[in-house]
Amino acid sequence: MIIGGGISGLVLATLLQRSGVSATIVEKQAEWTQKGSGIHLYSNALRALDRIGVAHEIVSSGSAHDFYEYADPDDIHRVRVRYPRLAGDDLPALATITRQDLHDILLQSASDCGVEIRLGSTVERFEERKDHAIVTTNVGRQGRFDLVVAADGIYSSMRDRYLGHNQPVYSGQVILRALLARHDNSIDPKIMFAGVGMMFGIIPVNADQIYMIAGMPDPERTRHPNGVLHTLLHDRFGPVFGGLAPFYLEQIDDARQVTYTAIEMIDQPAPWNNGRLIFIGDAVHASPPYLAQGAAMAIEDAVVLGELIASGIAHDEVAAQFMLRRWPRAQFIRKTSLERNRQRYQGGSYQSIDGKMSDRMRHLQNTAQPLIDDLYGFLAQPI
Ligand SMILES: Cc1cc2nc3c(=O)[nH]c(=O)nc-3n(C[C@H](O)[C@H](O)[C@H](O)COP(=O)(O)OP(=O)(O)OC[C@H]3O[C@@H](n4cnc5c(N)ncnc54)[C@H](O)[C@@H]3O)c2cc1C
Repeated sequence: MIIGGGISGLVLATLLQRSGVSATIVEKQAEWTQKGSGIHLYSNALRALDRIGVAHEIVSSGSAHDFYEYADPDDIHRVRVRYPRLAGDDLPALATITRQDLHDILLQSASDCGVEIRLGSTVERFEERKDHAIVTTNVGRQGRFDLVVAADGIYSSMRDRYLGHNQPVYSGQVILRALLARHDNSIDPKIMFAGVGMMFGIIPVNADQIYMIAGMPDPERTRHPNGVLHTLLHDRFGPVFGGLAPFYLEQIDDARQVTYTAIEMIDQPAPWNNGRLIFIGDAVHASPPYLAQGAAMAIEDAVVLGELIASGIAHDEVAAQFMLRRWPRAQFIRKTSLERNRQRYQGGSYQSIDGKMSDRMRHLQNTAQPLIDDLYGFLAQPI
């Protein structure tokens, strides 16, 4: 049984079912809804998605990139960074896709191979027996399973109940996202405008749409009424970012276009299982999304766990090997994204004065590529 039909739950279910292990998903939403506009899947995520045969479809439904450009706030200077193709030459370094399209593809592949999905369902009780587990759902349905996987995301109630109380920690930052019409087809790479502690990104997400993502500090975790999110975007990002930013900000005149997320983190200590109940994805490791690696790690978790289960080894061995293989990668991403986050606040300005590249942009020019080479040098290792 898999608790949660999000990104990792759907990937795991597909992989298991295709390997001859039957998988049932319980998903608490009564109807599927996807929040959050777009998502970047770097080539380590594509490499893992290729194991269930969906990487090419994701790339063709989204947009493909091999470069990323940082711009100063007025878009006078840009620094171009190349990302590696870890999934082979015929898959790009990065695919960006709407969350809805990604979900549709993953759901279709799970349905095609016969995964049973129960919507509006969640787990009330998990009980370990000698050679199986008994699960009782919210509608009183009981079932006997060899293994139960909690893929229920950062606010995992299963983590709270069965791994010990560990609440997400607020990062001090918020992110606002929207999908907008793509007016300028000459925008090719992912472009991130940098300000101290702030960023504003525009990324083509398919032939018709742009994914806009804007991040800013908010140590007080201000509560904004939902109806003002578009004015918040204009007020906070309008004065800081020029270049293409005002053009896209102008397209936002309704708060309902904006998804607002206070960024939280989870760093669950080992072990990530309680007997036959094993946790994957954001339920046990979630970092600020500045490396865009959260879903990638969750997908890799699903692939590794699926392959271990399908190999037929005992459940305690599955849990032990899973921990051994996934812990170092999750910790590496956590450390690197926190470090990246700290650097975003370090002194100076990105603003170009008299057309000259600012010291910060120059620093970026010297360090961005080596940082990406290091990061992907690590991620290139087999999972
Ligand atoms: C602003 C932002 C931007 C991001 N951008 C990127 C990016 O570009 N690239 C990237 O790789 N990652 C990104 N991430 C991270 C990524 O979204 C997550 O890491 C990823 O969704 C985690 O997948 P998951 O399967 O663990 O959980 P989720 O995708 O959150 O799925 C959890 C599922 O479980 C269900 N559920 C919850 N509780 C229960 C329950 N009790 N019973 C049954 N079902 C339940 C939920 O409804 C949901 O369907 C971003 C995150 C944020 C906040």
